[in-house]
Amino acid sequence: MAVSPRRIGILGGSFNPIHLGHLAMAQGALQSLLLERVLIIPANEPPHKQLEEGASTLQRVEMARRAVMGEQGLSVSTIEIMRSGKSFTIDTLNEISGLYPNAQLFLLVGSDMLKDLPAWKNAKAVMQKAVIACICRSSAGGGELEAANMLKAEYGADVRITDIIAPDISSSAVRAAIAKALPVKGLVPPLVENYIYKNALYVTEYFKSIQESCRRGLSSGRYLHTIGVMKTALELAALYGADGNKAKLAALLHDCGRSLDKGAISHAEKSELLAREKYQVADEEVLKAIRLHTTLDEGASLLDKIIYLADMIEPNRKFQWVEELRALAMLNLDKAVMEGLRRTIGYVKTRHLELNIKSQRALIWLEAELKLNPTE
Ligand code: FE
Ligand code: FE
Repeated sequence: MAVSPRRIGILGGSFNPIHLGHLAMAQGALQSLLLERVLIIPANEPPHKQLEEGASTLQRVEMARRAVMGEQGLSVSTIEIMRSGKSFTIDTLNEISGLYPNAQLFLLVGSDMLKDLPAWKNAKAVMQKAVIACICRSSAGGGELEAANMLKAEYGADVRITDIIAPDISSSAVRAAIAKALPVKGLVPPLVENYIYKNALYVTEYFKSIQESCRRGLSSGRYLHTIGVMKTALELAALYGADGNKAKLAALLHDCGRSLDKGAISHAEKSELLAREKYQVADEEVLKAIRLHTTLDEGASLLDKIIYLADMIEPNRKFQWVEELRALAMLNLDKAVMEGLRRTIGYVKTRHLELNIKSQRALIWLEAELKLNPTE
């Protein structure tokens, strides 16, 4: 059995969702306070605020677990969830010191929490049980030192103002980004990002119902691909200034007609049909992007190009030159689209398959466009 840790950090919160600011706090505390472990403890029900809509308790725990996967010294504890009822820090500290009687506990708090501490339930006992380690947000307005001195004088607390630097991210900013169809890359760990997208967390009911219905209609592999296309389309839309909601809708529905039995028309046309009829999409820009997602055509819009490219480079794609194309897509959308078209046409030629007239038209058109308006 492993040796029981002697120095334990405690990071509580609602983690709705956990983000890279939390992770930086936990990792920074490990290093700077020489801790052996930091326990990330999702609250069952935060005493001071009602939980926002979106993620269930289990989903918050699941995201925290994904966030610490492979992170040395970090683990998720469900003691507050198991205790049920409102979560009070004093109860948690008592429980943890019962589990680790020889450990010194470090309660990790942000600047705001430091100033609020006297208002907590059994504040004095909290400060006797644990060292209070304050992690100042980069944008914190100061006042931490004064608060620390007050806690020392009034409660005899052991307060440390750490030099840990955590990016100024908030869970509400993550939720807001999702709701506005903006990417959350760089705000949450990749595994959490995938979890949020796969489970349609923090989105409107409209998107949620479309996504659930898609999931039911697609194989699990195709659903994963669809989520990958959505994630990539959101990133490209943010990068090139397209409407994130349109990109998201087109991406979600781009393959929805895959299994539809409609004779000779292509799966892209079937998907367009289903989007129009079953999902009641009336936005012609979105419908066109779905229709053109495998071929493109001359006169393609920004949205068309984004969906075409996202379908080709989403993270589950594994063909030989995909990494090159991903890198190019981040630098120059048109060049990446042309490269995608050229390579696809080249592949079709070597296999002696039937050339797609739309793709050829799209390539010739784009090449001419770029000569007229060179971007470099
Ligand atoms: Fe497709
Ligand atoms: Fe696809």
